[in-house]
Amino acid sequence: MNIALLFEEDLTSPCSATLTDRRLRHLQEVLDIKLGDCISVGQVNGMLGEATVTQLTPLSAELEINWNRQPPAPLPVTLIIALPRPKMVKRIIQTIATMGVKELYFINSYKVEKSFWQSPWLTEGKLLENVVLGLEQAMDTQLPNIHLRKRFKPFVEDELPDIANNSLRLIAHPSGSQGCPTQVSQQTTLAIGPEGGFIPYEVDKLIASGFTPVSLGERILRTETAVPVLLSKLF
Ligand code: SAM
Repeated sequence: MNIALLFEEDLTSPCSATLTDRRLRHLQEVLDIKLGDCISVGQVNGMLGEATVTQLTPLSAELEINWNRQPPAPLPVTLIIALPRPKMVKRIIQTIATMGVKELYFINSYKVEKSFWQSPWLTEGKLLENVVLGLEQAMDTQLPNIHLRKRFKPFVEDELPDIANNSLRLIAHPSGSQGCPTQVSQQTTLAIGPEGGFIPYEVDKLIASGFTPVSLGERILRTETAVPVLLSKLF
């Protein structure tokens, strides 16, 4: 946790806050904060700042905050990821939040197991919990939007044209004949397949929507590895 991310309900005035939960425990147990110490904070979807600890008890910390800078710029990308197995979802959400992705679609695909959609990691509360951990790591405040789309064809046919409009459209595909581009500054829509890969029908549908298959080379990466590698190469 490199900042404490503050929600509306944590603020006691525009420039003061009370911390009582996981963030307080982290400040006490990991950072060993003392009265008068300064810590970095951010307001959800707002600015970053420095906060002075003005009162400290085992149950709460009072903070006086000087909001003084903007969060880092987002990446110009919309990610479309075939829903991975539940234990990966948590890590992928933290990673995309840390790396600055602000639009993520988890979509269905032929090789996504139906049971994955029942995962507790996809509930609103768990998604938010992991987004916050990712943002606190990166010292960012802007919450990403995470969308769940349980049907591939209607998503690709009805929604994707607007989502990907005017963007560079790429499918990460190990057998893609082109390498993954680098130093991209254009808005990009990037599709990443499920554990078993997109089936030919799905690849063809995406190609028909203007997507180009690009490869990271012959080594097949797990989705959770492919995501940061692709984002790092692209941007
Ligand atoms: N057997 C699957 C295949 O051949 O597509 C492997 C799927 S991989 C575990 C999950 C996803 O990560 C892939 O669908 C692709 O989007 C991405 N990926 C993994 N390794 C890749 C590579 N070397 N090049 C491009 N994309 C890759």
